[in-house]
Amino acid sequence: MQNLNNNKSAQKTKPILLIVDDMSINIQMLSDLLKDDYKIKIAKNGQMALDIVRGDEPIDLILLDVIMPEMDGYEVCKALKNDSKTHNIPVIFVTSNDSLENEEYGLNLGAVDYIRKPFHPMIVKIRVRNHINLKLKSDMLEELSMLDGLTHIPNRRYFDERYEEDYKESMREKKSFAVMMIDIDCFKLYNDNYGHGKGDDTLVRVANILKNNLKRPSDIVARYGGEEFVVIAKDISQEGAHKVAQRLVDAVAALKIPHIYSKKGDVVTISVGVAYRNNNDTPSKEQLLQKADEAMYKAKNSGKNKYILVEG
Ligand code: GH3
Ligand code: MG
Ligand code: MG
Repeated sequence: MQNLNNNKSAQKTKPILLIVDDMSINIQMLSDLLKDDYKIKIAKNGQMALDIVRGDEPIDLILLDVIMPEMDGYEVCKALKNDSKTHNIPVIFVTSNDSLENEEYGLNLGAVDYIRKPFHPMIVKIRVRNHINLKLKSDMLEELSMLDGLTHIPNRRYFDERYEEDYKESMREKKSFAVMMIDIDCFKLYNDNYGHGKGDDTLVRVANILKNNLKRPSDIVARYGGEEFVVIAKDISQEGAHKVAQRLVDAVAALKIPHIYSKKGDVVTISVGVAYRNNNDTPSKEQLLQKADEAMYKAKNSGKNKYILVEG
């Protein structure tokens, strides 16, 4: 899934095309034709193509030769479509075989289009441009569907997917894992007294300060619902989890957003429940989240503006 934290689409200038062909002359022709509009990557066989696609740089579209030694284009397409990390990348088959059966077979594998050799340069350009435009639009919609409309941090939907992936990964790699439930203290009293508009502004400020106080790129904060947020921190020591939780509590209090109706003090504060899993403990991801929630309520009931850490 996309990493919303890295905001890749904003940094990227040209869309990235991968050209897969075993013949240098074909690669040369296609890249000459497309290099002004796209960043071009090249693979001379199927395995190399899969390695590039699974690498760090996200590919926007693949021009895939059908007939190649060892692994043909159909096999490459099947592997891409079977992997949740790559199944959204549009594939256009490039082939000199003009049988309808082959075209049907390729399209049924999930390819978006077929281009025949010898190429008609303008037709190749236009087809690629059309499919790239669709891909960029669907990326944008996908990204929007994972962001919270008010605070612009990741939403619950993103968290649910990310939590599952990160949790599984940390189990597989036998790494430690912390999940933190965060809830704004006495926020109903804030809304009731300062109004919903001010309440919304405060949610945005709290979301931003939480985000800015997570230092590692793999740390995630999402809006869990209402005035609740959730943090994932992977591969973190217990001491590290204590530090992060305290830093978040302090950072929100340091905003000094006036809240004279709070039962705790006179500024907006949060309570945090941290569930910390050592690499050898094995609760389910639901149990761990439940523990974080219970710890958060303990923090509320024992004074607020604080965190409580429990081992999962
Ligand atoms: P506690 O300290 O125990 O957490 O008390 P609380 O008042 O924060 O908790 P409660 O769950 O009773 O109330 C949460 C309030 O959060 C209710 C609602 O007014 C407010 N809230 C939830 N979502 C939004 C939102 O999107 N915008 C605004 N302005 N307020 C919201
Ligand atoms: Mg709440
Ligand atoms: Mg609350």
